[in-house]
Amino acid sequence: MPKTLIEPFRIKSVEPLHMTTRADRQTLLAQAKLNVFLLRAQDVLIDWLTDSGTGAMSARQWGAIMTGDESYAGARSFYQLQAVVQGITGMPHFVPTHQGRAAEKVLFGAVCQRGQIVPNNNHFDTTRANLEYLGVDARDLVIPEGLQPALAHPFKGNIDLARVEALLKTEGERIPFGMLTVTNNTGGGQPVSMENIRAYAALLKRHGKPLVMDVCRFAENSMFIKMREPGYADRSVRSIAEEMFSHADACTMSAKKDGMVNMGGFIALRDDRWVEPVRNGLIMAEGFPTYGGLAGRDLEALAVGLEEGLDEDYLRYRLRTAEYLGEQLEAAGIGFVKPAGGHAVYLDARTVLPDMPVEHYPAWALCNALYLEGGIRGVEVGSVMFGKRLDDGRETYHPMELVRLAFPRRVYTQSHFDYAAEVIAEVKAKARDIRGVRIVKQPRFLRHFTAEFDWAT
Ligand SMILES: *Cc1c(COP(=O)(O)O)cnc(C)c1O
Repeated sequence: MPKTLIEPFRIKSVEPLHMTTRADRQTLLAQAKLNVFLLRAQDVLIDWLTDSGTGAMSARQWGAIMTGDESYAGARSFYQLQAVVQGITGMPHFVPTHQGRAAEKVLFGAVCQRGQIVPNNNHFDTTRANLEYLGVDARDLVIPEGLQPALAHPFKGNIDLARVEALLKTEGERIPFGMLTVTNNTGGGQPVSMENIRAYAALLKRHGKPLVMDVCRFAENSMFIKMREPGYADRSVRSIAEEMFSHADACTMSAKKDGMVNMGGFIALRDDRWVEPVRNGLIMAEGFPTYGGLAGRDLEALAVGLEEGLDEDYLRYRLRTAEYLGEQLEAAGIGFVKPAGGHAVYLDARTVLPDMPVEHYPAWALCNALYLEGGIRGVEVGSVMFGKRLDDGRETYHPMELVRLAFPRRVYTQSHFDYAAEVIAEVKAKARDIRGVRIVKQPRFLRHFTAEFDWAT
């Protein structure tokens, strides 16, 4: 067998990339106030800002779109998608939403109360925001290994069961349910093992608490289990996914990830208890229960996408892609969160810019350098995203300076990855010339999206 792992698809429809020169990019980045979020997408060559909703749909999905039933109530497309979701999750109740955060908002709105605590490995930022909005304390309890970028561990997304147990013992009556995010996006796209899922579910059950899983990347997590966890190598990814879901009582999903669609999400519920408040909340916020903020054609595309996202040739290629970029970074002496995640690789800016003062935002500087050098757009996960300017004018900083490169599904080929690896190595070779930045304008919350910068002096 040849060793090269090829993209398990061929291309039927293409979208041209708009080439720019370094001089163009200098002007464009200056116009964008040195913030890649403010660039126009057409001026980006390799867009690795996010893997959310940015994937390519298959010919089968586009075909299914034409068969969408746009009836307001009881559309055939709803029943078809419901059967697929029931089949994978084993949960009888399926509630479509327009994306993941809407699923969170509707579910939490129906079942949470002020003053409660929800444990998770790491809450994704919308999950945290939706809980905090309701006055609920979102508690991150990932294992200690999950917080050390350079440390390799097969399941860095695992939740720390000892800390969960301690929380259940001291604050049990304040906990409505436990959550678990697979894969752990905020923690670097790291997987959770079946052993950890099983033990967490059992622990919650002993305390009478349901398990709600955030399953945006359930297929990638299942493939990691197949590849890394003893006893699963010969199991189908689908049966691994089914086993994972069998431990959960409910789940929220952003279908923009492993659902392989550009927009969509859902809630699935195992027992009847939450169905009525959830459906009522859905009607207020999203729409009638058989469409929930989606068009009939979206439901069709998702029904196909959920099946395609479980294809093992696709998943093997998908996880290999991130690992492959990791190998090239390793060879170039560039640090990253290890091992490479499922949907993204997180560069450690400190290994490229060890001497840049944190006040010059090294990860932001690296992000800009990747754009200037090769038209690559990533996202800073460092002191711009997580630091704050206090009322007295002082700044707080983040302990890690990372740049996340997140990969849209089925969009970029190996040569795009080779090109990116070359650009990143070139940026490191020219690290001396990379300039830091200072913030000249910033909003109070989520400042990275819209802040404006100038070069630091
Ligand atoms: C993307 C994501 C969400 C939110 O989904 P949206 O579709 O962006 O609203 C929630 N949790 C995780 C882990 C995610 O990656």
